[in-house]
Amino acid sequence: MKLSLYNTLTKKIEPFEPLNDTEVRVYSCGPTVYDYAHLGNLKAFLFPDILQRTLRIVCGYRVKWVMNITDIDDKTIRDSAIGSELWNPAFGEQTQNPKANLQLLTSFYEREFRNDLAIIGIKQSDISSMPRATDFIGEMQDLIRNIHASGYAYVSDGSVYFDVAKWREKEHYGRLFAIDVEHFKSGVRIDADEYSREHVSDFVLWKAVKDDEPYWDFVLADQQLPGRPGWHIECSAMGHALLGLPFDIHTGGVDLRFPHHEDEIAQSKAGYGEETAQFWCHNEFLEVEGKKMSKSLGNFYTLRDLLDKGMDPMDIRFSLVNAQYGSVFNFTEFGVESASKARKRVQEYIYACFEGNSGHDNHAEELHRLRQDFFSALCDDLHMPRAIEALFSFMKSCPAQTLSHRDRPAFLELIHEINEIVGVWVIAPRPENNDIPQEVQDLAKQRWEAKASKDFSKADEVRKQLADLGYVIKDSKDSYTIHKEE
Ligand SMILES: [Zn+2]
Repeated sequence: MKLSLYNTLTKKIEPFEPLNDTEVRVYSCGPTVYDYAHLGNLKAFLFPDILQRTLRIVCGYRVKWVMNITDIDDKTIRDSAIGSELWNPAFGEQTQNPKANLQLLTSFYEREFRNDLAIIGIKQSDISSMPRATDFIGEMQDLIRNIHASGYAYVSDGSVYFDVAKWREKEHYGRLFAIDVEHFKSGVRIDADEYSREHVSDFVLWKAVKDDEPYWDFVLADQQLPGRPGWHIECSAMGHALLGLPFDIHTGGVDLRFPHHEDEIAQSKAGYGEETAQFWCHNEFLEVEGKKMSKSLGNFYTLRDLLDKGMDPMDIRFSLVNAQYGSVFNFTEFGVESASKARKRVQEYIYACFEGNSGHDNHAEELHRLRQDFFSALCDDLHMPRAIEALFSFMKSCPAQTLSHRDRPAFLELIHEINEIVGVWVIAPRPENNDIPQEVQDLAKQRWEAKASKDFSKADEVRKQLADLGYVIKDSKDSYTIHKEE
């Protein structure tokens, strides 16, 4: 099947074709490792996860997926500074060496981040490479030299800036996001990594060293410029080094369209003479209980906060992926509860396909339709809610006990493929519950089979036997659970 994606570059949904036929190259702006990943971050990384799984499993492509680790920027430097109140003894003991401190802080949060990815079901084996910015300083310096040589960068007070006014004479600046050109002031320089569209100006490629900050030596046109890279140049250099330009798809949150991605496009074109990517795909913001997530509103959640509330990570994953990435997502506790119920209904259906006798109906046509509807919804700009709806409408019209001995394996094979993308179910028989004696489990199974074959008097007789042993059975639509009587 062919995938269509909304391309921020053209503002249209376009059919996706890889640039070369060997593999699809995807670059995702990864985390800045100065704190634990919050819900909005996780949502931003689940989007390319679903994207790369769809490219592999539904479209049949090989995928090379790179997600960088920003381990040097304004925030990592601020928080690792000597005397920072945010220094946590878990990082290790702070030293007098700024670079060593930066490394202690960022490697701690990188480990935590990798852990979070595993918990939320993003497999590191699917990510080809997670480059750290500090391992690519040489490549960033080469790129800055190229931009300088082509005339689009200049040195001021030991820092190097991109000359936006000059660039705008040649190329359109504002390709992803409408820039407030009226406010553009030629020659005004901005050193911060993040700034708003009202502050369009010459952005920094290389920042002059400040007291007690980590720095690297850099020689540009015979000038000694000790310092460190600006944030935007990091992704340009790593994308070029690991994927080659242009690559297929660049992902990130909508907040990265400007300045981060706009600047990335300008730098790479000015320094490498190449476009960055043919598709730019952005996932929308996440709100919590209808409000912007913020520490002051008390609705700012990291993954560990939600686990502490007793939420199952697979319910969190299901709640976050069962949404169209291009729409604002409202994360609510109620939403996770609903996701949990829905996820368990599918899981019970899967278990039921391993249990009892098969039915006699022929559902080949409905199975075919489910396959068609599920994957075509995904291929339509990753419309997961419509795909999941197709699964539930199948389960409603074809209860598990009616599936024939042919349909059961066919369904299990299909749900296995679906789960390769959604990633929240176990495609296996119900695990044996060791707390419940085998005799009780056998009786419960007999009762279920009697019920399924409409032998209600037998079912009732077995139910009484179980009650005498101190167990009750709770039936759901497609299966049952055994409970010890309180
Ligand atoms: Zn980036």
